[in-house]
Amino acid sequence: NDLFKGKRILVLGLAKSGEAAARLLHKLGAFVVVNDAKPYEENEQAKELEELGIEVVCGHHPLSLLEEKLDLIVKNPGIPYSNPIIHEAIHRGLSVVTEVEIASLISEAEIVAITGSNGKTTTTTLIYEMVKNSKREPLIAGNIGTVACEVAEKAKSNQVMVLEVSSFQLIGTEQFKPKVSVFLNLFDAHLDYHGTKEEYSLAKAKITANQSKEDYLVYNIDDPTVCKIANESRASLIPFSVKQKLTKGFWIQEGSIYYNDQPIISLDSIVLPGAHNLENILAAMGAAITLGARLPQIEHVLQTFSGVEHRLQFVTEYKDRRFYNDSKATNILASQKALEAFEQPIVLLAGGLDRGNDFDELLPSLNNVKALITFGETKEKLAKTATEANVETIVYADGMEEAVLAAFEHSDAGDVILLSPACASWDQYRTFEERGRRFVDAVKNLETTLQS
Ligand code: ADP
Repeated sequence: NDLFKGKRILVLGLAKSGEAAARLLHKLGAFVVVNDAKPYEENEQAKELEELGIEVVCGHHPLSLLEEKLDLIVKNPGIPYSNPIIHEAIHRGLSVVTEVEIASLISEAEIVAITGSNGKTTTTTLIYEMVKNSKREPLIAGNIGTVACEVAEKAKSNQVMVLEVSSFQLIGTEQFKPKVSVFLNLFDAHLDYHGTKEEYSLAKAKITANQSKEDYLVYNIDDPTVCKIANESRASLIPFSVKQKLTKGFWIQEGSIYYNDQPIISLDSIVLPGAHNLENILAAMGAAITLGARLPQIEHVLQTFSGVEHRLQFVTEYKDRRFYNDSKATNILASQKALEAFEQPIVLLAGGLDRGNDFDELLPSLNNVKALITFGETKEKLAKTATEANVETIVYADGMEEAVLAAFEHSDAGDVILLSPACASWDQYRTFEERGRRFVDAVKNLETTLQS
């Protein structure tokens, strides 16, 4: 691949994606300069990159880096466009892209790209699982953990890259042209970075900006902003809806998922809880079927996929109680979705970092909650909201073991026991993943705890 041979490229930001892009571009014959605002000593990879022959400049973003003729700048998605060096580069007419642009230009495999404010990781994982065992082996990449460049470098034409992309990555694309794009929804998220909702939706619209008739856009017809973007797209449209009957695309009626005018799968096959996940499932089916996945495999995935770890993930059933780990619910909106996902009575475990907000918005979603086990900095605030919602039992707990034990003691057969904290984890845990794992461990140890 000679696309970058002999080109002079500045990579801004030495996080995982910057490092991968720098290594790859160097390998492809480009002259690469890497620049990171952190001091040299704090960039573990700096030395290694230098040994490869890559120039590394650390400590600040000197504008002098723009003096030498540059062909391209690859910026970390987290660096804002207001940063002086980016601002100046754009002013000089330089091309500034993110690492997914490089990945898409070098990948031999076709790309299915997934974006939206919520549900990206779940949908990406579902598509990956559904496309398995079909003619094309899927590869998973992007926001979900594996850097797109690294995967793209090895991708073969008989494979397909299932790529989760955020608005921060999309805004830095110019020729990005997925075979299949999936657009889930658009809420007022990340307005601090993108300024206005228009700008944010423009960034997301880039997922389909270069698509043409032989490409596909799977989109949520129930979301007005998404719909507007779809109507302006040149791609072949595949709508999905959980609310309305459609003449084409994926929709729901009388307990079945319909594809165009045919029922293809019974809703009884689905183990993943939550109305929001039904949207993710329809979106994933739209992409997977377009990519050649077969119905038996899709049905198998729906019957076995119990959720991405920490996202309303089914943990186990013990003494007729079903346990769910939704540790990723670090805000009220996410916990609302989780609480709305169940018809059974819920024992809720919630609490965490205090961001200064109250929990009034959670009140209507608590009507199904019979007991609240609360912990962390927000426990008093949550207890107050639960009292207003007439939740029968409220218990303060310290550690996760204590919380799970209390949850079990205040539950009955048939109940759901749900960790959906509505708060970030940093007051008690390093990450939401650690919090989720502690919950899962405590649930698995419950029998032993009860015996001791
Ligand atoms: P993302 O990768 O976009 O953050 P995830 O799949 O990790 O999305 O889901 C994160 C949370 O977002 C879930 O726990 C759930 O509360 C919420 N969510 C997931 N899918 C949807 C959807 N389609 N609509 C609204 N909210 C959703």
